[in-house]
Amino acid sequence: MSIADEPGLSVAGDLGPIADVRSVGLTNRLLTASRIGTSNRGRVLETLHRSGPASRAQLARALNVNRATIASILQPLIDTGKLVEGPPVAASRNGGKPARPLWFSHDGPLIGGVQLSPDFVAAALMGIDGSVRRQVQVDYERTATSQTISAAISEATAGCFSNTELIGIGVAAAGMVNTHTGSIISMHLNHGLDGLDVRAALKQQYDAPVLVDHHPRVQALGDLWFGLGRGVQNFASVYTGEALGFGIVYRDKIVRGREGAGGESGHTTVQIDGQLCRCGRTGCWETVATLGWLCKKSAQMGLDEAATMTSEKLAAQSDDGNAHAAELMDLYARNLAVGMANNEQVLASGTYIMHGDVCGGGPRMLSAVQGWMTRLAPERGMPPLVLFAEQPDIITLLGGAGLVLSSTFATTV
Ligand SMILES: [Zn+2]
Repeated sequence: MSIADEPGLSVAGDLGPIADVRSVGLTNRLLTASRIGTSNRGRVLETLHRSGPASRAQLARALNVNRATIASILQPLIDTGKLVEGPPVAASRNGGKPARPLWFSHDGPLIGGVQLSPDFVAAALMGIDGSVRRQVQVDYERTATSQTISAAISEATAGCFSNTELIGIGVAAAGMVNTHTGSIISMHLNHGLDGLDVRAALKQQYDAPVLVDHHPRVQALGDLWFGLGRGVQNFASVYTGEALGFGIVYRDKIVRGREGAGGESGHTTVQIDGQLCRCGRTGCWETVATLGWLCKKSAQMGLDEAATMTSEKLAAQSDDGNAHAAELMDLYARNLAVGMANNEQVLASGTYIMHGDVCGGGPRMLSAVQGWMTRLAPERGMPPLVLFAEQPDIITLLGGAGLVLSSTFATTV
C-alpha cells in the first residue's frame, strides 16, 4: 500500500489549487470534517520532511498539539511501513523516555521524476527519502521530431519505472507548460517539444498520477524538499545557462499562475529597445544574461574559447590573471543580478538559490553576484542571500519527487 492509498490522501490529477495566485479565496475555505484527518496527516508528514528526523515530542511542539494527537496520526504510518523509528537517542536531563526519531522508510513508497530538456530526457526512480535508486538519460538533437522525443521518453522511463509501483511521476518540462493538461505549449530551443502531451504519453505506460510543470518551478520544489531551500519559507530558485528562469516559493508554497502560467522571468524586459529575443520581443533578461550573450561578449573582448565560453572557463581565465575575463565575469554577474533584483523589488524573496552554468564560476562568481545583488536590491538592512546549488546538481529530478510530494501532502484543499 502506498501513501496514495491512504483514505482521502491521494495525488491530484492536476495542479489546480496549490498556491494558485488567483484562487486565494478558494484555498482559504473551511475544511469538511472528512478532510480534517487527511489534512492533519499531510501537515505532519510535510513538517517531518522539511525538518528532518524528529521525535513525537518534537513534532508535537512544532505543530503546537499534544503528544496523544501526534501519536494517533503517526501510528498508522508506522504500522504500514511508511515511517520508521530510528535508534533511541539519550533521554533528556529531566528524566523522560529516550526519544526515538521518526523518518521516512527507505523501503517505503517510490516516486518517478522526469526532466525534459531541449537536448535530453532524464528519468530517476526515487525513494520518499530522496534517495535515487535508478537514473537513465537519453539524448536527442535540437532538430528531433516529436516522435523521436516521444521514443526517447519511453526508453528513459522504461529503464527506470518498469514493473515498479509508483505513487506518482513528476515531470520538469522545458518551455511553456500547461499544468492542467500536462502538456508543453511551446519550446523555443526545440520545436519537437511544441504541443507534446507529456501526461498522456506517460499515462499510456504507467498506472500512476502524472504531474507536469515548468522546469524552474520543479527545480524550486527540489530545493524546497531536498536542497538548500529546505526550511526556508521564501526563496527564488534561479536557473542559468542557455535560458533563464525562476521558480518562486512564497510562504512554503510554490507560486503558480492558472494552468501553470507565469515564471517566465527570462522574458521580463530589462532593456527597452534592447536586442531581439527568441520570443520575438526585445530587451528580455535572457538577451543579456545567458550563455549566448556571454559567448558574443567573449568574442568581442578577444577571449580564448569565446565560442564555447562558460562561467567555469571565464573563472579559470580570470584566475590566470586575464583582466578582460575578470571584467566580463563582473558584467555577467551584474546582468544576472539585475533580473534577480527586480524580483527582490517586487516579492522580497530574500534568498536566491542558483543552478546551472553560473555555479561553474565558483566562489569568485558567487561573490560577484552577491555583491551586485547587495547593490541593486532595496536597502533594508539585510541584503538578499545568494547561494549556488550543491554539485553534482540533480535537484530538478528530485524536484519531480517534490512535485508529487507537494501534491500528496497539500494542505490547502
Ligand atoms: Zn524574450
